[in-house]
Amino acid sequence: MELTANAKINLTLDILRKREDGYHDLQMVMQSVTLADQLTVAPAQGEEGTALSDLHFLPTGGKNLAQMAAAAFRAATGRGGEVDVSIRKRVPVCAGLAGGSADAAAVLRAMNGLAGTGLSLEELAQIGERVGSDVPFCVLGGTALAEGRGERLTPLAPLPACYITLCKPPFSISTPQLFSRVNVRKIVRRPDTAGVIAALEAGDLAGVARRMYNVFEDVLETRRLAEINEIKSVLIDCGALGASMSGSGPSVFGLFADRDRAQEACDCLLESYRDVFLCAPAGPNV
Ligand code: ATP
Repeated sequence: MELTANAKINLTLDILRKREDGYHDLQMVMQSVTLADQLTVAPAQGEEGTALSDLHFLPTGGKNLAQMAAAAFRAATGRGGEVDVSIRKRVPVCAGLAGGSADAAAVLRAMNGLAGTGLSLEELAQIGERVGSDVPFCVLGGTALAEGRGERLTPLAPLPACYITLCKPPFSISTPQLFSRVNVRKIVRRPDTAGVIAALEAGDLAGVARRMYNVFEDVLETRRLAEINEIKSVLIDCGALGASMSGSGPSVFGLFADRDRAQEACDCLLESYRDVFLCAPAGPNV
C-alpha cells in the first residue's frame, strides 16, 4: 500500500495552562501541507516488521514511530499482522513539522486497509493518541483546532489556496526544554486564535496570516530567536502576508498569495539554508 504522509504547520500555538499531570493545555490551529513523506506498507517478510528509510540515523525497528503505530493498531484492534514500512523521507526531522507523527498516522491508515477493519478516521486518531500527541491531527489532516495535548480536534474551514515557503534552520530545539521555560502567567504575546478561526471561515488569507503567532517564540534563546526573526524578515520582505515558527521549531514558514513571490523567498533563503521548501495547504484525509 502506498501512502502520502503530509507534514503540518502551526498557524497558531498557544499554551493555556499547566495541568496537574505536568502536561500543558495547548490551543493550536494546525494545517496540513503538501510537503510529505512517501510510505509503502506491506505484510512483513520476516517475523518482525521493519521501518527502513533513506535517512540512516532513524530507527529501523520498533522505535520508529511507523512501527510504534503498527503495534498500537494491533494492541487496540487485535487485528493486523507485522508490516514492513519503507519511507521516502522528505519532511525534515526534529523540525516542528510532525514528520514522524505523519508517518505513524499513515501506517494506521494502511493497517486499517490491510486488515480490513473499516475503522473511521476518528477511531484511528484515537489509537494514534497513544503514539504521540500530533498523531491524531495527522490522521485527520486538513485544517483543525487542536486542544488539550493536541488530541482534541475540531475541524475548521480550510486555509484559502496559497503558497507556503518553509525553512528549517540547521539546529534543533528541545521541546521539553522549551516547555520548561514557559511560565504561562508571564506570556506577553499570544496568537489571536478566535480571529484566525473567523478569518478561515471568511476565506480571508491575509486575515489569517496577520494573526498567526507561536508562543514558543517568546522563550527561545536569544541567538535562536534572532535567527528565527531573520528568516521571518526575509519571508516578509519577499511578500509573505505573515510568517511564524511551526510547533516547537525551528522551522519557520510564510504564507503567500502569489507563487512567484513564494519562489523568490525560497531562492533567497536557499542562499543561506539547505532545507527550504515551497509547498501548499493540503486538505483532510478521506
Ligand atoms: P513534532 O512537530 O510532532 O514535535 P518534530 O518535527 O519535532 O515533531 P519528528 O521529526 O516528527 O519531530 O520526530 C523526531 C524524533 O522521532 C527523532 O528523535 C527521530 O529519531 C524519531 N523518529 C522515530 N521515527 C521517526 C520517523 N518515522 N520519522 C521521523 N522521526 C522519527
